[in-house]
Amino acid sequence: MATVDLLEPKKKVKRVEGARKPALKPFVVPLGAAVALPPAAKSGEPPAPVDPEPVAAATDEAPAEAEPDKKVLHLKPPIIVKELAEHLGLKPFQIIKDLMALQIFANINQTVEPDVAAKVCEIHGFVFERERKDTSKGHHKVEVKVEAPKEPEKPKADELNSRAPIITFMGHVDHGKTSLLDAIRKARVAAGEAGGITQHIGAYSVERNGQRITFLDTPGHAAFTAMRARGATVTDIVVLVVAADDGLMPQTLEAISHAKAAKVQIMVAINKIDLVSANADRVKTQLQEKGLVPEDWGGDIICLPVSATKGTGVPELLDMMTLQAEMMELKASSTVDARCTVIEAQVEQGRGPTATVIIRMGTLKVGDAFICGNYWGKVKQLINDHGKAIKEAGPSTPVKVLGLSGLPNAGDELMVMDSEKSARILSEERLEGLRSNKLAAPQRATLENLFANLAADQKPTLQIVVKSDVQGSLEAIVSSLKDIPQKKISLEIIHAAVGPITDSDVLLSSASNAVIIGFNTKTENTAAQAAKREGVQIKLYSIIYELLDQVREAMSGLLEPELREAVIGHAEVRQVFDLTKGKVAGCMVTDGRIARTARARVLRRRQPIYDGGLATLRRFTDDVKEVRAGLECGIKLGDFSEYLPEDIIECYTLEKIAQQL
Ligand code: GDP
Repeated sequence: MATVDLLEPKKKVKRVEGARKPALKPFVVPLGAAVALPPAAKSGEPPAPVDPEPVAAATDEAPAEAEPDKKVLHLKPPIIVKELAEHLGLKPFQIIKDLMALQIFANINQTVEPDVAAKVCEIHGFVFERERKDTSKGHHKVEVKVEAPKEPEKPKADELNSRAPIITFMGHVDHGKTSLLDAIRKARVAAGEAGGITQHIGAYSVERNGQRITFLDTPGHAAFTAMRARGATVTDIVVLVVAADDGLMPQTLEAISHAKAAKVQIMVAINKIDLVSANADRVKTQLQEKGLVPEDWGGDIICLPVSATKGTGVPELLDMMTLQAEMMELKASSTVDARCTVIEAQVEQGRGPTATVIIRMGTLKVGDAFICGNYWGKVKQLINDHGKAIKEAGPSTPVKVLGLSGLPNAGDELMVMDSEKSARILSEERLEGLRSNKLAAPQRATLENLFANLAADQKPTLQIVVKSDVQGSLEAIVSSLKDIPQKKISLEIIHAAVGPITDSDVLLSSASNAVIIGFNTKTENTAAQAAKREGVQIKLYSIIYELLDQVREAMSGLLEPELREAVIGHAEVRQVFDLTKGKVAGCMVTDGRIARTARARVLRRRQPIYDGGLATLRRFTDDVKEVRAGLECGIKLGDFSEYLPEDIIECYTLEKIAQQL
């Protein structure tokens, strides 16, 4: 039987093609074996073989898997630099040098990921193979590869039961989301519902006219979209809370975009109706302008006036939720193996890691073995939203689960498995996969890769988030973008707003696989970091036609696949001058050169906050083409004016790289 490995056997051999081929016999280091390899006589020289047997015989692998003159190094993560060096018969500093060449800076006691170890091995003529421990016999191979349970086939109509809707409140800060959640909780206590006071477990459910409704206790679109970025949309209905005195505010608009991008049903609670300054009709007009036409105005959006503090309209709001749920025909089977979504997880004293999950389908029972994100477990206890231990929980019920081997993330899936053993093996595999992939940012859409990996018959959609400096240019950009012919590709603007690029924009783009387009705007520091982490592309422009051209080219598949940046110099802002024509940064060129025709970006604490062309480049009062290191100059970039001393202006050119097949 073949060993479990993430790499195809063929690939293993392919990976070392072209590498130096030492004329030594292959050798095998069994897993965990304390094989003291003789130190290499000379550094850089491969060690003498410790096992004269060919690879195939020693490892049970198919003989064709490794060429006879390749040495196979079997190691089990964690792979410590020092040990890797020992196994390769090298001095640790040589490995550290190799790692540095790979842009990895590790000391001898640090671990490296298996793919990195593979590269280092390749350099030294070895084929790296990741070992796994055999959980059944203690040997060094695992023959079983456990797969996550498949989503059950669509159950027959008679196996499906109605389930409670799951509700998330969203809206602008201070518009009353938390107050509404509290008001509903109180109504439940007042109604004398069994169990009384609600325990905070991250969600709760209430009964209204014999029907249940489940509420997520974390209002706002950040948590909602963070879950969606992890592939989980638990919410059925978003209730948009709009203060009647304030109307639609920036975060209300964001919430609308987030809910629409997730394609969930929207309802509106027009809150604070008790205030004299309340104006529900104005809110409805604003909603209509955003494409959410209220029901009583001929549309399909349920809008209800409420007062969270006075309790007015709260029962009606609950009625509307059940009605909306009925129209949506929310159903789930309660007989299949349970599949749930984690909405909250924490480590509790005396309980270990716990997770509040909402059951999507099936019935979760005490004693069930499960996989949950990267961890496994056996349900030790189930605690409901009244703090009571229960034996089982069905669809749409929030319940806290005890008995996890580690702390999962919100949005992770909990799935019941047939045995503890398979759950444990799957968890080990996932953790190992996580270790080897953790450095890689996920591959998301970019303007350049829209057509990559796309089947011929697929029509892709370019989803974008547009941020701009002022409303006027935002409207111009959005309408020009919509005018671009959508022959090969459809364009969907999932959010457009005025202001800098924020964490929320990155989150939305990450969840929707969208590209962020910024016009004359900057990226907030944390957003730039999040974009890097999430692999979200941010494109900044300061000239409208350049922006439109690039999107048009991207949509027709003509955008140069690769534009390589070549940084040509840096200048540090020393002083900011407020001149009649705007702010100019007085800079010192610290290295390379700043060229008038090149592009430049402003870096603040190493994060790009603005990108665009140079508007002016001056030495004293003269316009110049170029300023070299060691000289002072005045720089103005596009329309940017928020220079601060110590900002770095990075000047670069874009070079086209010939397209590779
Ligand atoms: P959130 O940020 O959306 O969760 O808003 P909160 O629920 O924290 O409410 C913000 C403020 O608005 C608090 O001071 C509440 O007391 C107040 N508030 C909430 N709902 C109402 C309401 O219906 N009427 C009035 N007058 N004030 C309200």
